[in-house]
Amino acid sequence: MGTNKKIIIAGPCAIETKAGLFSVVKEIHDKVDVIRGGVWKARTSPNDYAGKGEEALKWINQIQKKYNILFAIEVGTKDHVALALKYNVRIFWIGARTTSNPFAVQEIAETLYNTDTEIWIKNPIFSNLDLWFGAVERVRLNKIRKIKAIHRGFYCESEKTYRNNPRWDLLDKFKLQYPNIPVICDPSHITGDKKLIFNISKKAIQKNINGLMIEVHHNPENALSDKKQQISPKEFNKLLEKLNLK
Ligand code: PEP
Ligand code: MN
Repeated sequence: MGTNKKIIIAGPCAIETKAGLFSVVKEIHDKVDVIRGGVWKARTSPNDYAGKGEEALKWINQIQKKYNILFAIEVGTKDHVALALKYNVRIFWIGARTTSNPFAVQEIAETLYNTDTEIWIKNPIFSNLDLWFGAVERVRLNKIRKIKAIHRGFYCESEKTYRNNPRWDLLDKFKLQYPNIPVICDPSHITGDKKLIFNISKKAIQKNINGLMIEVHHNPENALSDKKQQISPKEFNKLLEKLNLK
């Protein structure tokens, strides 16, 4: 990876249908390094869409082969990891809710002990760096060498411009602690609003971030999760052009 080459990760918040997933991938695969998509969604309400589960893993396996591209998914339990490995998923991220759960992080890391799989660790919801560091340490202690961190913003009671407040100061501290761990910025979950994604992406690039993870949906207005922040493939292409990345 060259110093200025950004890793671009994009795809839907949640995988919903085979046709929807394949249509978005068809339009963005040649502009990204990794496709993302939620298979199991950690929803606040049990009545909200929770993901397609194993069925989506089959589609992911097909996409990885068809386009010769890697696909990253969120895992929250060791069972998620074990099942996804059977469908050749090799990049897992730990979501903001899970990062602060030592039992879950420990189990996920042990399941991937001493393997070449990648784990990306999102910052925890609350602005406590020790929780983020602790999750990184658990993964490292399990001899997982390919680690990335994701800045997805932090919950803030008083500041409501963003869905999750970007904390560039905490990011700087993270980089000081782990200078060799690449950091990805997730402007979709920071902003919660597609209109703000460009500005946060730009800021992240100024902060010398190593990559961007953006939620792209084939039909954002009707997405079953995070619809205000998801952008269409067309909008994604325009965003990349404006950012002058590819
Ligand atoms: C996601 O990336 O789809 C997600 C749920 O993110 P977070 O864990 O940052 O809320
Ligand atoms: Mn989302």
